[in-house]
Amino acid sequence: MGYKPVWEANKEKLNKMEIVKLQKDGLDIIEDIRDNFSKNGFDSIPAEDMDLFKWAGVYQQKPKSDGYFMMRVRIPSGILSGEQARTLAGIARDYGRDLVDITTRQAIQFHWLTVEQLPDIFDRLAAVDLSSFEACGDCPRTIVGNPLAGIDPYELIDTTSLVKQLSDTFLGNRDFSNLPRKYKISISSNVYNAGHAEINDLAFTPASKVINGEEVIGFHIWVGGGLSARPYLAQKLDAFIRPEEVVEVSVAVTEIFRDYGYREKRHHARLKFLIADWGAEKFLAVLKEKTGELETAGDDRTIGWNAGYFTGVHKQRQEGLNYVGLSVPVGRLDANELEELARLADQYGNGSLRTCNSQNIVIADIPDASVPALLKERALERLTPEPKHFTAFAVSCTGNEFCNLALVETKERMRQLASFLDENIELDEPIRMHMIGCPNSCGQRNIADIGFQGALVKTEDGMQAAFDIFVGGTLGLEAKFNEKLKGRILAEKLPHVVLQLVAFYKEEKQEGESFFHF
Ligand code: SF4
Repeated sequence: MGYKPVWEANKEKLNKMEIVKLQKDGLDIIEDIRDNFSKNGFDSIPAEDMDLFKWAGVYQQKPKSDGYFMMRVRIPSGILSGEQARTLAGIARDYGRDLVDITTRQAIQFHWLTVEQLPDIFDRLAAVDLSSFEACGDCPRTIVGNPLAGIDPYELIDTTSLVKQLSDTFLGNRDFSNLPRKYKISISSNVYNAGHAEINDLAFTPASKVINGEEVIGFHIWVGGGLSARPYLAQKLDAFIRPEEVVEVSVAVTEIFRDYGYREKRHHARLKFLIADWGAEKFLAVLKEKTGELETAGDDRTIGWNAGYFTGVHKQRQEGLNYVGLSVPVGRLDANELEELARLADQYGNGSLRTCNSQNIVIADIPDASVPALLKERALERLTPEPKHFTAFAVSCTGNEFCNLALVETKERMRQLASFLDENIELDEPIRMHMIGCPNSCGQRNIADIGFQGALVKTEDGMQAAFDIFVGGTLGLEAKFNEKLKGRILAEKLPHVVLQLVAFYKEEKQEGESFFHF
């Protein structure tokens, strides 16, 4: 049994899920799946155990009665080897009907899995040092970061080993497997905020400070960000964290969330609600009771936001090497494509692939002389480094194809909408569009230039899919969530309405104005 919250004495106030977690630690479900449910089948799984499947990184797929699951695999900072990518492709081919989705947290998602297949999938992942465990559930999830860590000309320090260290600290650690709610961490030293810091529960962004006459490179720390129906941007604490302090400080922040976070209502349990009530100053004071004194904040080194996009051929920090960012429309690949990317990464580079929170992928470490041949490869016709404008910047959540919470279909709709705009209007700048199927905002609608949130409306012909439209979201120096436009648009009318909106922007915008300022 793992950690029992200080709330145990106050059981009558806990929400239903908290009671389930008091009976059984979420991590226990992994052995139950191996030893029991995979042998006895879907119908043998009690409802309260099904709730804990998330700790194994597994959710029930829609419709629940069909007995299929989706699985998320953690890819810390998005960094994958060719061997790992081939293993993922093999799992998709053997069990997941060939589908591979890249999520907005750099994870890989499979669908169509059965409980009987899960132990073999766990083993195949473990054999290449990957895991789905705690990719979901009330625990520290995949740590997102700079997909270019180690090769990035625009990062102050290589965060690869820090992310690994922190990931290893939390993964399977029963001190942290019963948090009040999901818990998302971002670590990046990229000056263009590649880790989307402000929408994480805990984030580290690049900073520097002169200490004893010497410039030290480290991090600023942000807490309490998160999306869903009540979105919050993270607040910066007045602290400068040296790289060697990141693990200790992260553990302390997580302990505070575990012990003081709210457990009465599920929709009011994320760290953001505690931070909103306490404020940054009180939170920092409690943090320092655990860590001891911390340096006050230094100089922020973030200078903008790249939104996680790296398409095209770019120079690495290593002389003579390049990374090639490829567009993966709405994040969906098939098993053959992923396997082919692994082959290309091996043949032309050193096997390194990187998944991005923009749902795209990067092949790294390509010598100058090998770039032209790589660009001629057939796989890069669809997964192109030079995508059309709207397709390049289109993000989508899973939607009602597989998600039980979805009100509408999103992935194919977003792909078609982007393609329609590409055919009908030209712009000389990107417009980032995100589509989600419900207010939970897995597709990060709130940070899009144009966000679409699905809903159902009553019409004479019955209930129909429709979308609320939001405009003007951004992260980085001027971070703010997008704002809702009046009216709700029937899905069938969405392409023409969005075309009009973009055309209006194109005609009316002033010199130097971006969609965000419009
Ligand atoms: Fe499902 Fe809603 Fe998340 Fe989309 S945003 S994947 S519909 S929960």
